[in-house]
Amino acid sequence: MSTLPHPPRQLYYDGQVQPATSGKTFTTIDPSNATPLAEIHVASHSDIDSAIAAADRAFPSWSQTPPVARARILQKAAALLREKNDEIARIETLDSGKAYTETSTVDVFTGADTLEYYANLVGGGGLNGETTQLREDALVYTKKAPLGVCAGIGAWNYPIQIALWKSAPCLAAGNTMIYKPSEYTPLHAQTLAEVYREAGLPAGVFNVVYGAGDVGAYLTAHPTIAKVSFTGQVSTGMKVSGSAAGNMKYVTMELGGKSPLLILPDADLENAVDGAMMANFYSTGQVCTNGTRVFVPASWKVAFEKRLLTKMQYIRPGPLFDEATNMGPLSSAIHHEKVTSYIKHGIETDKATLLYGGLGKPQVPKDLEAGFWVRPTVFTDCTDSMRIVKEEIFGPVMSILYYETVEEAVRRANTTELGLAAGVFTKDLNQAHRIIDQLEAGITWINTWGESPAEMAVGGWKNSGLGVENGRKGIEAWVKNKSTLMDMSGAVVTVFAKL
Ligand code: NAD
Repeated sequence: MSTLPHPPRQLYYDGQVQPATSGKTFTTIDPSNATPLAEIHVASHSDIDSAIAAADRAFPSWSQTPPVARARILQKAAALLREKNDEIARIETLDSGKAYTETSTVDVFTGADTLEYYANLVGGGGLNGETTQLREDALVYTKKAPLGVCAGIGAWNYPIQIALWKSAPCLAAGNTMIYKPSEYTPLHAQTLAEVYREAGLPAGVFNVVYGAGDVGAYLTAHPTIAKVSFTGQVSTGMKVSGSAAGNMKYVTMELGGKSPLLILPDADLENAVDGAMMANFYSTGQVCTNGTRVFVPASWKVAFEKRLLTKMQYIRPGPLFDEATNMGPLSSAIHHEKVTSYIKHGIETDKATLLYGGLGKPQVPKDLEAGFWVRPTVFTDCTDSMRIVKEEIFGPVMSILYYETVEEAVRRANTTELGLAAGVFTKDLNQAHRIIDQLEAGITWINTWGESPAEMAVGGWKNSGLGVENGRKGIEAWVKNKSTLMDMSGAVVTVFAKL
């Protein structure tokens, strides 16, 4: 019997909780105070085989269910998620360390929005193909077919949102899914499976297995898996996409970034500072699209830093369920180690100028002192060759880079192997569009940062990923096309006629 505050998690497939047989467990931790929350049972290879077999059995019937009937179930699931918003958000906060002010307003809602979006899309004919009249007596028509059993692999920073951004289009298109959450934030997965079941999703359509990279590797390499949708680090994504592509599996890769935020000389100072702070400190900096390289006109240095320093006081780490708290800890001890080692490197080796924050923990109540807290940090006068400027830190660490000309800023912004997001702050919209056109990134913003609604297809360029999630384009990642040419002339054109 587990003595932890939350019940242990076994696996979930074939419409119910199933015992894991590996004999191995791991513990998920509340990052705000480093206390264990629940024991999670790891899937063995044969458990994964069983979950995949359940999904495979469910596929023929689910894929043949009319899109409008699938849509009704998914719409109901979206409504249930909204009803249970606060309860789910509470668990997400405990599991991930994100402030409740965030999880209760963003994480579950943005997941439910995507579910509703894809339900409405497929219910309204979004899976229809097209007909092309080639000539009077011939036409081409296309159909979209689901792929089969798909694997969804999640990162830890937006647990239930990632699970929904993957499962919503996957199931709407008629596929079935095996979902593996991150081993650092697994608690949402069974809740989501139960919501789907309560909404009427047939057994085997959405299944959950738990474990770390070895479970993910076995799952994604499995011959029955038709597609892998992965969110995580570039290095892991390269391994997973390499093995998947070698077996002709479809892949979507949502990976890391080191995104540039360009503030032009005519921008509004207040908006620029607010945008830069949202792009660096929201969710304790653990957002893949964060604009961590902030390009500022050199002539702005004094004014920008002064205003930024004033507003940095408004970052309030504290008890996660306190309404005033707008910054939580980092998600795990290992991630805390990684982020603080970057801050140390910035100070000691890169020798960047530390404007705010630095090593050590922020002031938090005594009962939270064991948590994985880090100080929001700003480095200024950074150069492009510094490691803190080149590599994704995935924590609340802003690098300010000053520039003389806009052309120079754009060129430097593009000097990276990553291309997830980019953005520009300016009052001159003509200039904004010209610059956005030149920035090498898949997700871009003008005079705002970070909003990623269900309607907006998002995905990285360069090493930041392959394919997109969300929006009308997002459904294409979960179907294969069939084109049919039909000839009605009554004769076959042949070159094999008698001379
Ligand atoms: P990670 O790569 O360490 O792990 C991601 C997932 O992959 C986990 O579930 C993990 O268990 C699994 N995994 C690990 N090794 C595997 C293997 N060999 N085969 C299959 N699965 C394996 O990433 P993380 O630290 O959990 O997440 C943070 C990263 O995710 C950051 O780089 C961030 O930028 C990125 N991210 C990207 C997006 C996006 O949409 N582009 C969104 C959120 C997070």
